[in-house]
Amino acid sequence: MKIYNTLTKKIDDFVPNEEGKVKLYTCGPTVYHYAHIGNIRNYIGHDILDKTLRYLGYAVTRAMNITDVGHLTSDSDSGEDKMEVARKREHKSAMEIAKFYTEAFFVDFEKVNCKRPEIVSPATENIDEYIKIITKLLEDGYAYASGGNIYFDISKLDNYYCLTNQDSNLVVGARESVDEDSNKRNQADFALWFTTSKFENHELLWDSPWGKGYPGWHIECSGISLKYLGEYLDIHGGGVDNIFPHHTNEIAQSEAYLGHKWCNYWFHNEHLIDESGKMSKSKGDILTVSVLENQGYDPLAFRFMCLNSHYRKQLLFTYDNLDQAQSTLKKLKNKVLSLSKEGEKDSKLFDHYVSKFKEALSNDLNTSNALAVLYELLKDSEVNDATKRALVEDFDRVLSLDLLKEEEKNSDLDAEIMSLIEERKEAKKNKDFAKADQIRDDLLVRGIRLIDTREGTTYEMIKD
Ligand code: AMP
Ligand code: ZN
Repeated sequence: MKIYNTLTKKIDDFVPNEEGKVKLYTCGPTVYHYAHIGNIRNYIGHDILDKTLRYLGYAVTRAMNITDVGHLTSDSDSGEDKMEVARKREHKSAMEIAKFYTEAFFVDFEKVNCKRPEIVSPATENIDEYIKIITKLLEDGYAYASGGNIYFDISKLDNYYCLTNQDSNLVVGARESVDEDSNKRNQADFALWFTTSKFENHELLWDSPWGKGYPGWHIECSGISLKYLGEYLDIHGGGVDNIFPHHTNEIAQSEAYLGHKWCNYWFHNEHLIDESGKMSKSKGDILTVSVLENQGYDPLAFRFMCLNSHYRKQLLFTYDNLDQAQSTLKKLKNKVLSLSKEGEKDSKLFDHYVSKFKEALSNDLNTSNALAVLYELLKDSEVNDATKRALVEDFDRVLSLDLLKEEEKNSDLDAEIMSLIEERKEAKKNKDFAKADQIRDDLLVRGIRLIDTREGTTYEMIKD
């Protein structure tokens, strides 16, 4: 497989540390609010990566954190912990907030058919791990205590900016809008542990050798990754906004701690934007997958819309785009469901299309080309229905669009419609076409469209 690597700034051949095995880490959500559809686009990108690796035969172990402490309102070290902000907003404890939004996150995550990583670990459950790492960083001179906090000293590394190729002046410039922290030796140093907060009633605190406090945001991902996936990581990913400072700082502290290179491939997903620009959880109304569903959209239409674009390109969300995705997906599904179940699978043609599909995905996860292979297959008159069905099932291991899943039907309604379909069939047989048409039209008024196929009549619910 070839994959774009932010570390080398090019598309690299993927070679795991251990043959046939992949250790994969994904930065998880900050659970102080609902995950918006931009966040979910990011996890769809990671899901495609995860499933493609498995499809290609790798044994993948994947871990993801849940940020329930330490992410301040700024991505650098200023502002209040986002969990504290939510706690005050909702008058609940931080753990109640975290539990609520973690559950809500996974509801939407699963609605778009993302597979849960093997390991999902909340930041608050690994405090000992961070203390262990920070203690060693202090012993080895990479970290220092100042004003009650512990900071990482970036001047101790030659290649701190390896992920961004930024020069330090640029970064300091970019940070001018951020509050100066007089405790830092260099304003680009970053916090590993805080014992101070300028905000009142800070709830999330743990004992540590440096006093009661709480971890910085970056240390949680290093800690969780090292604890569950070991010292050598194959792929680490997040959204493009995670490149700096989050991933830059993760590399600095992990490699200083380990004394060797930590992760070989850095995978970053571009943002979903709306007409006003980047989506943000702090912007007020949060557009979630569940909200879209309540508006009558199929969550998988959103997944389909994401798969039609490349993960390294920004994607503009509009309702027109989503409408189009929904109607194309519906047509695609109808086509797939009309394939006959009879016949024998042709292994040669099967292998031919599998290799085309693999080729598209292996080329830096080109999902729109992978979908083009599917369209080509459905049009190919040389391939019989049984082979097509088998291939669709196979491709859907990665695409996860439920292409072969019959719509779940309300059983009472389903029974009523099925008996009307029978009545219509009978009317047609008796050449009572007026009655047959009347049944069809009455159903249409109720938002139920009959579809006549070679195998008989089915129906679909029309969404407005
Ligand atoms: P957060 O919950 O804010 O920590 O974000 C969770 C993940 O979503 C992070 O990896 C972000 O990089 C990513 N992300 C944030 N905003 C967007 C967006 N508009 N489009 C795609 N990904 C995003
Ligand atoms: Zn992270």
